[in-house]
Amino acid sequence: MHITDLETIPISHSLPDGHGLGDARSFGHDRATTLLRLETDTGLEGWGEAFAPGRIVEATVAELFAEDVLGMDPFAVESLAVESYTNPYHFGGDVFVQSVVSAIDVACWDIIGKSLERPVHRILGGTECESLVPYASTMYFTEQERPLEEPIQEAVDEGFTAAKIKIGANTDTDVERVRTAREVLGDDGRLMVDMNGNYRPHQAIETAHAIAEYDIDWIEEPVPPENDSGYQDVKAATDIPIAAGEAHYGRFAFKKLIDNRAVDIVQPNLGRCGGLSEARLIADMATTENVAVRPHIWNSAVGMAAAIQFAASVTDYPHTRNIPDPMLIEFDRSENPLREDLLESPFDPSGGELDVPQEPGLGISIDEDALERYRSDE
Ligand SMILES: [Mg+2]
Repeated sequence: MHITDLETIPISHSLPDGHGLGDARSFGHDRATTLLRLETDTGLEGWGEAFAPGRIVEATVAELFAEDVLGMDPFAVESLAVESYTNPYHFGGDVFVQSVVSAIDVACWDIIGKSLERPVHRILGGTECESLVPYASTMYFTEQERPLEEPIQEAVDEGFTAAKIKIGANTDTDVERVRTAREVLGDDGRLMVDMNGNYRPHQAIETAHAIAEYDIDWIEEPVPPENDSGYQDVKAATDIPIAAGEAHYGRFAFKKLIDNRAVDIVQPNLGRCGGLSEARLIADMATTENVAVRPHIWNSAVGMAAAIQFAASVTDYPHTRNIPDPMLIEFDRSENPLREDLLESPFDPSGGELDVPQEPGLGISIDEDALERYRSDE
């Protein structure tokens, strides 16, 4: 079997004026990403996502990957990561290179699963896994005037038992947001906070102390991803677990996070970290050092499918048999038709449970009409 065709498909959706949303750093109106479709001489099709702008993905594919990928056996998937660090010497760890590797790698695993007639999580060595616990990403900073508690109340009404909220503007509003979320979630709900790297270490530490009484599962990106010593300072100053990874790309960046004892949780994004092959390596490095793995997902339905298959394959974090600490799947609750409309059977997090597709490969079918509707290159 070999790959005969490769297509990049940028897709996007713009939020209406006044509906922008974001984090402590900035607002945005555009949801955009790039899908990649591979075809084989045996008639199989594989899908992946490069969580990066279409024209950059297209140029990176054409310049660095197309020649090697066309004709490649999809089972040789792990050679992609090795090549990415070898041949584009000096920029293998670049976000756009690793985003493209992610898309090709995931599409290869989709094809491998289809050819073996097994879902990807079983081929990656995972046990049988029927469902995962989704958590709502919510309480964004928005342009709309809404009561603070409204979005998280909606998530709870949908059945979510866990949520991650945006904080990071200043300690006073952080406390107000966390207190509100905790009241809505109740004492038993899992609550995480995301600072999106908007703080200096002393500011992140101030908030960490101020919200400690609200039983926080993790603080995400307390300081900018480039601030290695800042992560260590924050981690040393609080008992709340620290998480990062959405802005780290490839094995070496994650190895540094783990080796530096900078985080308690790594969060690879399957559209940027280097794909399923690299995520598995990252998970092995992390769990070996008792660092937990919770994928970051702000992708289209394709990247989400890859993350779900990956999450379903990751072994329990060691030594938690008596301390329930389930794998959590991020489920963004902001408007994004690239997540909701792209599949013939969309993912459904309602009721606090998310089914893991059991069909071969990623276990998804693309709705071609929806794909045409959101494609942004024509
Ligand atoms: Mg985040």
